Amino acid sequence: MAALRMVILGRQGSGKGTQSERLTARFGCVHLSTGDALRAAVAAGTELGRQAKSIMDSGRLVGDDIMNGIVRDRLGRDDVAESGVLLDGYPRTADQADALEAVLGELGHRLDVALNIDVPIAEVTARMLGRGRSDDTAEAIGRRLELYEEQTAPLLDWFEGRGLLAAVDGVGSPDEVFERVVAAIEHTRG
Ligand code: AMP
Repeated sequence: MAALRMVILGRQGSGKGTQSERLTARFGCVHLSTGDALRAAVAAGTELGRQAKSIMDSGRLVGDDIMNGIVRDRLGRDDVAESGVLLDGYPRTADQADALEAVLGELGHRLDVALNIDVPIAEVTARMLGRGRSDDTAEAIGRRLELYEEQTAPLLDWFEGRGLLAAVDGVGSPDEVFERVVAAIEHTRG
């Protein structure tokens, strides 16, 4: 099977991370979570980590230039060329979507599908408060959800316009949602 290049979108708390792990296991692609990359930089105490930490704790977005650089470096590696990639948490802004399209184009690739795991705001808020992560204060959750509606939700139209959007109902057990996700990928790539 050809290597897949996918984006997974969804509000924070939508189960994107869980579905991403299952997808990478099923399709053998590299999981590129920009949130995980930033958390690793924070844990390692790098310059990037120091810059990112307060931004992440406040629920704001790290700058597009920094994020585009991280993704550009990672997409250029051999394992992505061979196995494909699932981008999780990126793109989050229109600028990032444009940068992604540009970098894939330079590498001679394009996206196969953008999945949207759709879970209502009330449900994701309850889920996030329950997971107890240090950056999951009620205030930070509220700000992240607002930013998502403002900056990231418009990307759904961007992907739709390119014929890449696959919407999946994200309410249900992880197994149920995964079945829908796989069906949506197969439908979209034809
Ligand atoms: P996540 O695990 O995807 O929810 O990301 C955790 C935090 O990392 C976010 O709240 C942002 O502060 C930052 N972050 C992750 N990915 C991005 C991105 N693509 N653009 C900007 N900030 C990001």
